[in-house]
Amino acid sequence: MFNYWIKGKQIINNQSVKDKKKSQLKKTNVDFLIKIAATISVILVFAGIWNAYHTGQIADQKIEKSLELQKVSASIKREYNEISSAVNFALTSGDRLWNNRYEKSLLELNKSLHISSKLGDKSFPTKTQKSLSEISLLDREIFNLISNKKNNQAFSLFSSSDYQVIRFTLAKDVSETSLNLNQQAEIIITSLKNRVLKTTLILILQVFAIIGIWLYVLSMLKLWRKEQNIHSKELIKLAHYDSLTGIGNRALFKIRLEAAFKQSRRDSKAVGLMLMDLDHFKEINDSLGHGVGDELLIKVADKLKTISRESDTVIRLGGDEFAIIVTNINTQLDAMRLGEKILSIFESPMQIKQHEIKTSTSIGLSFYPDDAINSEELLRKADMALYEAKRMGRSQVKFFDAKIDIAARNKAQIQDEILIGLEKNQFSLHYQPIIDIKTNKVISVESLLRWDHPTKGSIPADTFIPIAEESRLIIELGSWVAKTACEQQVAWENKNFGSLNIAINLSPVQFHQENLLNEFDKLVKQTGIKKDKLTIEITESTLMENRHDLINKLHALRSLGIKLAIDDFGTGYSSLAYLKRFPINYLKIDKEFTRELPNNTHDISISRSIIKMAHELGINVIAEGIENTQQLQFLGKSNCDSAQGFLIAKPMSKENFEDWFTTYNSIPVSNVHSIKKTS
Ligand code: C2E
Ligand code: CA
Ligand code: CA
Repeated sequence: MFNYWIKGKQIINNQSVKDKKKSQLKKTNVDFLIKIAATISVILVFAGIWNAYHTGQIADQKIEKSLELQKVSASIKREYNEISSAVNFALTSGDRLWNNRYEKSLLELNKSLHISSKLGDKSFPTKTQKSLSEISLLDREIFNLISNKKNNQAFSLFSSSDYQVIRFTLAKDVSETSLNLNQQAEIIITSLKNRVLKTTLILILQVFAIIGIWLYVLSMLKLWRKEQNIHSKELIKLAHYDSLTGIGNRALFKIRLEAAFKQSRRDSKAVGLMLMDLDHFKEINDSLGHGVGDELLIKVADKLKTISRESDTVIRLGGDEFAIIVTNINTQLDAMRLGEKILSIFESPMQIKQHEIKTSTSIGLSFYPDDAINSEELLRKADMALYEAKRMGRSQVKFFDAKIDIAARNKAQIQDEILIGLEKNQFSLHYQPIIDIKTNKVISVESLLRWDHPTKGSIPADTFIPIAEESRLIIELGSWVAKTACEQQVAWENKNFGSLNIAINLSPVQFHQENLLNEFDKLVKQTGIKKDKLTIEITESTLMENRHDLINKLHALRSLGIKLAIDDFGTGYSSLAYLKRFPINYLKIDKEFTRELPNNTHDISISRSIIKMAHELGINVIAEGIENTQQLQFLGKSNCDSAQGFLIAKPMSKENFEDWFTTYNSIPVSNVHSIKKTS
């Protein structure tokens, strides 16, 4: 039942692994982008720093040079003025001491001109130096004349047009040189300004580039986060909803149930847990295919969703198992009504593809907080109620009842004890003979399981076998029975005790086992029993289950050489015509129909028609539950082949059976039924 759920979960897991891969890929992209952005940013920052530093250094040099140019220019102007005024003062005062001053300034002027030719344009200083050397010759002449007290001559030299022309040229050259130097300084400052402007612009661009890059990275991150959000929402949806029907799954069930409990504590209203599964869903799946089965589940889920209230949660727990969490319940009747509404969905057949499918459901209900105060317990109790609903004949709603719980706990205890019993050899086989009515000869022995419980004593097979079937422990128990019975048959055969046929009872759970044939094949080989000495008894109700592999299995068992008997015939209400479909050897009339023979007319006609019909089909008839001679005589007259019952012998332990059998074979045929022996 829960395979589906597991499968669903696997799909989700696979999906999330795929999605995770997808998102990891995106994450690596984003990571890569961040790395690139960080690298570019670092490069840009370093480039900016380097550029600013470099510009700073250049600025230092240029400012220095420009200051120097200005200084030289000022010095040329000043020294020129000095020499001019030295000549002027010498002429007016006749003081030759001005000559010293003149020579000092001349030296300085020459020095400055020399520096200026080194610093920049050479043409102006060269020109000026030339005019300076020309005038200095004349000026020295003037100073000579003054020192020789020839002031007039000096003055006339000074006033001469040649002197004045040279002096004018020098003034012009000096002014040009100084101007040129200033211009050069200005050009340097302007270029520096440009450089600083450029650097600033580049820095601004770099800052913008960094901001731009990070804005882009940020937008990519946002996009990635958004995708992640959508993605995680999808994952949550995948994890909480059933992929086939779209309704909630087991994960959502837990969350919603806990939420409903919380709400219930707040508003003091009960929570109902409704559990249901589709009757015979497996058969529909097996006979019409999984496609039809899936469609049916989708349709049922849709109908459940429509019928329940908005506040209720409809869940597919797995397979054909659904649950509804019913909240806001005032009285338990509210939930009962919903249950009845659900049953009514199944009243008419459902159209799935070209098939009209008539199915039904059984519903179990438990309530929080009356029945349980936690989800596991509530689910367990709803499940018990569901089981009870099915047991009561399906298509009904059942509330959880504490009595069922006690019974279930007992069952669980018995299951544990069966396991211990198997381990501690508490089980044994008893043997009940079946005789040929005409010859009185023992033709077969039915092996019946007994449990000698250490504290409860001998437990009847009828009480523990159904529990063992439910828990499938019957498979283990049954194979022990089969092995022990076959070994016993071989042992009797070996000690020439008699070539007795042995019959074993096969539970429907065993019969439906996939590897049943292999198991019997193995059993026959392992124990060495002759195949025609083994009979398997299968109840009529097992044969009435509508399973496609049933007839094939029976044929396969027959082809192994094993004989087949229908047990408890008559209780399953199958028509006699049904029999011809089955390859069986024996039919055992249930004790229900032999008990009141030969007094009950109804039983008379039933047993007679069973015998007649079976004989027509070549099937031997064994009458069960023969307790008195009238029954046996009547059956003999009615052509029944064999008989089994307390009149002949009760089921006996191996030892008791051996004693009984020896005695039975040693006395005259007419007296055989007076040697009844009990186990
Ligand atoms: P069953 O296969 O119909 O077995 C016959 C039952 O009728 C036995 O009960 C037997 O003791 C009882 N019986 C025999 N003769 C008479 C009689 O004259 N009058 C009355 N009233 N009863 C008679 P038992 O041994 O308690 O077994 C009950 C059922 O448990 C069996 O019914 C069979 O269905 C099941 N069972 C017993 N052993 C095994 C086993 O090894 N495997 C399986 N799967 N089922 C078993
Ligand atoms: Ca039987
Ligand atoms: Ca029987």
